[in-house]
Amino acid sequence: MNMKDLLIKGGKVIDPSQGIESIRDILISGGRIKSLGENIKAGKSEVFDASGLLVMPGLIDMHVHLREPGFEEAETIMTGCEAAARGGFTAVCAMPNTDPPTDDSGRVKYILERANNAKERVYPIGAITRRRHGKELVEMQEMVHAGAVGFSDDGVSVADASVMMNALRYAGMVGKPIIAHEEDADIDRGGQMNDGAVSTELGLHGMPGIAEETLVQRDIAIAEYTGTGIHITHISTLGTVSIIRAAKKRGVRVTCDVTPHHLVLTEDLVSTFDTRYKMNPPLRSKDDVEAVRTGLVDGTIDAIATDHAPHYIELKEMEFIYAAFGVTGLETALGVVHRELVESGLLTWSDVVMKMSQAPSRILGVEGGTLKEGAVGDVTVYNPDAPWRVDPHKMKSKSSNTAFFGRELPGQAAATIVGGVLYMNYQEQP
Ligand SMILES: [Zn+2]
Ligand SMILES: [Zn+2]
Repeated sequence: MNMKDLLIKGGKVIDPSQGIESIRDILISGGRIKSLGENIKAGKSEVFDASGLLVMPGLIDMHVHLREPGFEEAETIMTGCEAAARGGFTAVCAMPNTDPPTDDSGRVKYILERANNAKERVYPIGAITRRRHGKELVEMQEMVHAGAVGFSDDGVSVADASVMMNALRYAGMVGKPIIAHEEDADIDRGGQMNDGAVSTELGLHGMPGIAEETLVQRDIAIAEYTGTGIHITHISTLGTVSIIRAAKKRGVRVTCDVTPHHLVLTEDLVSTFDTRYKMNPPLRSKDDVEAVRTGLVDGTIDAIATDHAPHYIELKEMEFIYAAFGVTGLETALGVVHRELVESGLLTWSDVVMKMSQAPSRILGVEGGTLKEGAVGDVTVYNPDAPWRVDPHKMKSKSSNTAFFGRELPGQAAATIVGGVLYMNYQEQP
């Protein structure tokens, strides 16, 4: 196919890989960045006027539930990719807790085939164990050949430490990360929200931070012993931040991510009994929110990932104790990060690119994270001055369970560009 060249003109380019934060033009040809400079001639290329807009390496969301196969009433690969494109992401990782789960090479191929016509790059994450039952390891090598970029039993931890030890060894051999959901299921059994004063007051069964921290501690110890890397996803507590900070200091190859909701919202919201505040890990205390913010700024936390977890409305519109865990996140992440972390001065836009593009690309070993000449032509164009109010019923996602409903966010993606192909995002008025 003969694809037209694309010239992104006059935007403010934010690319920490080259130390650039200034007005530049970018020419994409044959799916790759051909040049980056000032006053690049358009020639026969298609021109996208980016004046007044931020132009960043394409954002990569390391943790997304696309729900297909098995839960298509909540999301499909196509609708999830639409939501991702709307939110400014050019690539998403598809978590394996589908039905059937992504636990062999055929399942990996199925996801890639279904993603063929999507606006996004979709990177399948394989399960660590067959059926995610925590017993028998999957065939990692075959799955990597089929296109898996990492392994996770997300939704649950690998309870058996010897299985986790073997998983880390095999993942190390095939050069792909283990992405660990850390939660002691015995401690958290029956839990509804963070354990503390609020859960006591509401009479809800609590999920204490130590359910996360004991497993983080265990798996870091195993990774240190096996000498392999480990990625810990959706960290949520002060204790976890301290454990990871100390581990990094002594040279353990541990990386981690945090969600926008754990950076912004606290357990107090649960007192509304709105099921849109029910997720796992649960919203934590103010001290925990402070700690993950500090960890993000000081480099303990490498990446921001959404844990986009769409649910069919009937699984959310019920009593709090029966409702499903999980919130959507693809369409609100960038606006929330802008409002809460950039406007407050915690992060610069270069930091945002590091946390949402560079670090995910590095951890997963996939292309992206830079706009250097020759790099893949994945670009996020963001309008920082296009306020909108989050209306759950106007989302591209098939599901409406966002915890940021009703909030005004300062900006929105103006375009997402994947391999030089431009998708304009419809600008909504508040
Ligand atoms: Zn999880
Ligand atoms: Zn998840």
